[in-house]
Amino acid sequence: LSSNQREFDYFQLALQWPGTYCRTTHKCCQKNGCCRNSGAPQHFTIHGLWPDYNDGTWPSCCTKSNFDEKEISTLRKDLDEYWPSLSCGSPSSCHGHKGSFWGHEWEKHGTCSSPVVKDEYNYFRTGLTVYFKYNITEALSDAGYVPSNSEKYPLGGIISAIENAFHISPTVVCSGDAVKELNLCFYKDFKPRDCATRSRMDNSKTSCPKFVSLPTYDSS
Ligand code: 5GP
Ligand code: 5GP
Ligand code: 5GP
Repeated sequence: LSSNQREFDYFQLALQWPGTYCRTTHKCCQKNGCCRNSGAPQHFTIHGLWPDYNDGTWPSCCTKSNFDEKEISTLRKDLDEYWPSLSCGSPSSCHGHKGSFWGHEWEKHGTCSSPVVKDEYNYFRTGLTVYFKYNITEALSDAGYVPSNSEKYPLGGIISAIENAFHISPTVVCSGDAVKELNLCFYKDFKPRDCATRSRMDNSKTSCPKFVSLPTYDSS
C-alpha cells in the first residue's frame, strides 16, 4: 500500500443489475462480441470488490501494479459470465492508459485491498468466491422478486429478502425506479456486515423510490 493511503476497513461487493445498466448505456455489450443483440444477463453481475473506510470514503489506485490479463486466464470463464463488462468503452486506468473493465477494477480498487488480497489473481478469485457464496439473484427470486418489465416491487421487501437470506443489510442504488446496483458488505475476514455507513454518508446514491423494478433489457 502506498504510504499516503492507510489500510482499508471493510469490503463492499458491488453488484450490478444488467437490465438496468444496459438501459442507461442504451446497449448491452458482452464478452468480445461487443453490442451484439443478445440482451442482458438475468442475474446480478459483479461490478467490483471495493475496499472502503468506515467514514464513507475509500482509497483508490494504491500501487502501480498494472493489470495483466494472463494472470487471470484460469478464471476467464467465470469472469466472462459473472463479472462481464456490459459497456463498450475502455475505461481509463489509474495511470492514464486505457484498459479493460477488469483492469480498471484491479488498478483502482484491487491494489488497495492489501494485505487481505495479495495479488491480481487473488483479487478476482476472491470476488468470485464471495459472489458465489451470497447468491442474491437466487435469494430475490426465492422471495418472488424476479426480472420483469411490468412488475414493481416494494424496496423494503427486496431489502428484507436479502436480510432474511444473509442476515445483513445491503445498499441499493436505483436509476429512476430500476434497481441498478446492490452492494453487500464484509469485514476484512469476509464475515458479512451491514453496509450502513455508506447509506448514512451518501443518501443520494441509495435513495430508491418505495417501489422499484428489476427490468430486463431486450435490444431491439
Ligand atoms: P458513482 O459515482 O458512479 O456511484 O461511482 C463512481 C465510481 O466511484 C465507482 O465506479 C467506484 O469505482 C467508486 N465508488 C463509488 N462509490 C464507492 C464506494 O462506496 N466505495 C468505493 N470503494 N468506491 C466507490
Ligand atoms: P463526488 O464529489 O461527486 O462524490 O465525487 C467526485 C469524484 O471523486 C468521483 O469520481 C468519485 O468517485 C470520487 N470520490 C468521491 N469520494 C471519494 C473517496 O473517498 N475516495 C476516492 N478515491 N474517490 C472519491
Ligand atoms: P467505476 O465506476 O468502477 O469507477 O468505473 C467503472 C468504469 O468501467 C467506468 O469507466 C465504466 O465506463 C467502465 N465499465 C465498463 N464496463 C462496465 C460495466 O459493466 N459496469 C460498470 N459500472 N462500468 C463499466
